[in-house]
Amino acid sequence: MRIVETISELRVSTIAQARASGKVVGLVPTLGALHAGHLSLIEAASRRDDFVVVSIFVNPTQFGPEEDYQRYPRQLIRDAELAEQVGGDLIFAPSRAEMYPDDHSTWVEVEDITEGLCGRFRPGHFRGVTTVVTKLLNIVQPDRAYFGKKDYQQLVVIKRLVRDLNIPVEIVGLPTVREADGLAVSSRNQYLDTQQRAAAPQLYQALQHGAEAARHGARGTEVEQVVRESLASEPVFTVQYVQAVDPETLQPLGEAGAPMVVAAAAYLGDTRLIDNIKIEEDAINAENDG
Ligand code: AMP
Repeated sequence: MRIVETISELRVSTIAQARASGKVVGLVPTLGALHAGHLSLIEAASRRDDFVVVSIFVNPTQFGPEEDYQRYPRQLIRDAELAEQVGGDLIFAPSRAEMYPDDHSTWVEVEDITEGLCGRFRPGHFRGVTTVVTKLLNIVQPDRAYFGKKDYQQLVVIKRLVRDLNIPVEIVGLPTVREADGLAVSSRNQYLDTQQRAAAPQLYQALQHGAEAARHGARGTEVEQVVRESLASEPVFTVQYVQAVDPETLQPLGEAGAPMVVAAAAYLGDTRLIDNIKIEEDAINAENDG
């Protein structure tokens, strides 16, 4: 598996060649420490696209000063092997200096939909994400780019970014890959100790309780209450937020019902986990009809 570290090499020798031979290019942006969730994106890309670039870059600008940038797992060689096994064609692993020269001074900011949910608790996070994703899209110029619904707000923000700036790429959102017990696969799961790991699946279970209530007609605030109560039964969680939002606008639902996405963030010790569940409008009708 070829690992390219500079923008010029990627552009000139690789992407240009792929394009010249008429290949459709897919991009899977990641922070590395690849797991089953990332691999599902790479696999999906390799099924649809002819040349799949996996970027691995622990983007400093999306981490807050108190967050885990320093301790974030880095394992480039292993990542390259894993990506190759599922159909990745090239790893783009730039250095920090390659992506952010000392006098870097341009930022991409998506307003409004970055303010709620995770954005409220991670100031500057989405600015870092939208800036680096814009740079990666400009560097690779893919036909399609793949993102996970596990980071639901991120997916919606990137779709908005691409629409608003008329970036010629199709954004593909793919389902959350979970462990057998329901825990969403995440690089941060490896920070959990045995007790925390045993409790962690209850985040998704709580969201499922909320979804169940929504399918029975519960409104946004009621659904949030169900999820909060369910999480409260597991004292090891420190809940940061539970919010039911409109799937497109990400606005809080209040007294409105489905369609909705219920998103939550909770700490287990120092480790912050996020997850979400979507309830379609017809899920309610199906229950009521039945
Ligand atoms: P990250 O390396 O955490 O920035 O994630 C890179 C991409 O993988 C993002 O689009 C994430 O949404 C996606 N991703 C992370 N975890 C999962 C998962 N469990 N299932 C599906 N996609 C995921």
